[in-house]
Amino acid sequence: MNVTQYLAEEINNCRKCSLGFERTNTVPGEGLYSASVVFIGEAPGYNEDLQGRPFVGAAGRLFDNLLLQVGLNRQDVFITNILKCRPPNNRDPLPAEIKACTPFLEKQIQKIQPNIIVTLGRFSLSYFFPTLQIGKVRGKLLKWNNQYIYPVYHPAAALRNTKFYDLLKNDFKQMKQFLEEKSAETSAITDNPESIQLSFFDD
Ligand code: SF4
Repeated sequence: MNVTQYLAEEINNCRKCSLGFERTNTVPGEGLYSASVVFIGEAPGYNEDLQGRPFVGAAGRLFDNLLLQVGLNRQDVFITNILKCRPPNNRDPLPAEIKACTPFLEKQIQKIQPNIIVTLGRFSLSYFFPTLQIGKVRGKLLKWNNQYIYPVYHPAAALRNTKFYDLLKNDFKQMKQFLEEKSAETSAITDNPESIQLSFFDD
């Protein structure tokens, strides 16, 4: 059994919050467990709940398009949400739901160890940085517990206002550049075991 199946089964059986009794399907996330970038949205919506897959509605199609524009597709990345079950009528996640559900997200991040986490929208940003406002930090590479976090607006915002689409396009371009830089740094360390030794001695 691989980790994706293991977590999916654990999430499918979860009733740690009331959303577990209202969902049609859980939406654990999908993509590569060796992905160098993980995208985190807020929670499944209507279509995601019906299909059990993340980002499959109109916002999902826009997200796919943004990925394609920077030469990526879903097979290259991992996509998930803060919550794995849909809140009724797409209401905002409650603090107790976030607390109950995010251990799954933490396990996913620990397993994948991506070079960059891209937070989509204010809820996933505030999970990592509760006091930061997305309008002020979007498109900036932040550091959280030795992990790079890159906040961008949620693709659903771009469906409501084209201004957000332009910002997202630029932020995805920059994200790809950061990703290439971080991937190059990682492979330089992997290719040169001495550099790992040196960093221990530097301490
Ligand atoms: S939202 Fe998360 S914690 Fe709540 S029932 Fe679903 S999987 Fe469990």
